[in-house]
Amino acid sequence: MSSGNRAADQQQQQQQPLSSSPPPSSAQKGSAEAVPPQFTIAKTFPPRGGMQQYRLDKSHKFTCGRCQKDKTAKLVVVREGWWEQLWCNGCYGEVLAKG
Ligand SMILES: [Zn+2]
Repeated sequence: MSSGNRAADQQQQQQQPLSSSPPPSSAQKGSAEAVPPQFTIAKTFPPRGGMQQYRLDKSHKFTCGRCQKDKTAKLVVVREGWWEQLWCNGCYGEVLAKG
């Protein structure tokens, strides 16, 4: 008698048929976080305070999860691998300054 309806596997994957560019065959080290395919990381900065700053290949339009401003920048900040809500470079500096 097992009356348990567990849906622990709740993963929503958005697949866009538009992007069909194969990744360049470069020897990448295993990344800790799964980077969404729409981002191409040009440079990875050292992680600080649970935040990870990246410079992207192209400017990316996003709404900063902290100051809620619309940003278009190559520099983005990812908190603990949370790519869904990026922070802007300004907030990154602010948080670091506050310690
Ligand atoms: Zn911000």
